[in-house]
Parts: sequence; C-alpha cells; structure tokens
Amino acid sequence: MAQKGTRFPDIVSYANERGIQFKPRQNDGKDEVYAICPFCHHHNFKLSLNPVKNCYRCWHCSEVGGIASFISKIEGVSEVEVIDRYRSQKTRNVHPALKLTHEQRRLIGCAKLPDWELMRKRDPKYFKLTLDMLWETWKAKEQELREDAYTHLYISIITGEIKDSEKKERIVTSITEIGRRINVPILEELRVAYRAKPDWVKTIERNTDSLFQSIKTKNTTTVENQHAG
Ligand SMILES: [Zn+2]
Repeated sequence: MAQKGTRFPDIVSYANERGIQFKPRQNDGKDEVYAICPFCHHHNFKLSLNPVKNCYRCWHCSEVGGIASFISKIEGVSEVEVIDRYRSQKTRNVHPALKLTHEQRRLIGCAKLPDWELMRKRDPKYFKLTLDMLWETWKAKEQELREDAYTHLYISIITGEIKDSEKKERIVTSITEIGRRINVPILEELRVAYRAKPDWVKTIERNTDSLFQSIKTKNTTTVENQHAG
C-alpha cells in the first residue's frame, strides 16, 4: 500500500495519537488491533487496524483503506495532500547537495561524485562538511548565473533592445535556456527581482548605468572635440 518515496506513520500509533479508543485486552497473537471506529463510532470496537499492512476496515460501517486514506478521512484533507506531506517530510531530511543534478554539478566542476555512502561511513563529520561546501559552491554559482542573466536583461532594457520583438525573443529564450539547465525558473525570478529590486539588483543596475553613462560621456566628448577641431 505504501507509495514509493513516502514514509507513513504506523496506523496504530497514528490512531493512538488521535485519541482513538482501543479495545482492552486484545489477543496478542493477532495482527489486527480493534478500536472504536472514528467514522461510525459504533460502541463495540468494530474498527480493525492492521499495523503490518498499515490499513483499516470497519466491520460495521464498511469504511476501508490504507493509511493515507485513514489520515485523509480523519483530518479532512485530500489523500494527495497526505501523500505529499509524508513525501516532503522524507525529502527534507536529504541534504540539498545530494539532490543537485548532473548538469548543476558539472557547472561547478563536480560532475563526478565520490562514493557518498563510503564517505559517510568513514567520517560522518567530513561527509557533512563536504556536502555543505558543495551546496555553498552551487548556491554561489547559481547567483552568479542569475546576476549574469539579469545584467543581460537590464542592458536590453536600457538600450531599448527589449522593444524589438525579435531581440526580445532571443533574450527570453537564452535566459529560459539557462534556467532549464540549472533547474531554476530564472526568467520568472528576474521578473520579480526587476520589480522588487533586492540589493544585488540595485548593484547591477547602478554599475550598468554608470558604465553606460561613461560610454555616453566619452562619445559626447569625442563629438565635441571633433566640432571644436
Ligand atoms: Zn465504522
């Protein structure tokens, strides 16, 4: 019943936490545990919980299913929501560096992976340190690519290139492509950043503006000198 990649709680423990009343003095030899059904509330312990198969059945109201359906009915949320909750709980325990794609690792020069399992067994502290370092390196690279893409976009805005539909299309395509390669919705991020102006955006805009200003001044000076000469 359990879905791959999910770690559901044991149905008996879950029922216990929810305050479901168990039948006193149950047969120890049996897999099933009997309890008061939370759906029909029949007083005679009609709900059978099977901790081995992690499923339930009420012999009175016929409610039946696995742990995800049990949680979903008790909490009044969808089964999909329940599955997602336990899946993400599992993923949260995985170090983000272990989830980097091959392309992401390639971009920071770590395409080839060490034997993590071996490293973890030999020296857990070093293992964790290596993962942290890998993750920091990736985050720095990601930001560098984001800033490059923003600079590109910003230049196209101040030069008016963005108004040319063909040029705009090319810029959007190239930024989308970078995003696809690094698994980051970079175009959407840049749109938000353009409006929100976080510090790194302000820095890029200031630097780009002053660069363009100095080019303009230089050109004007050259033209003036030509006129003067
Ligand atoms: Zn029932």
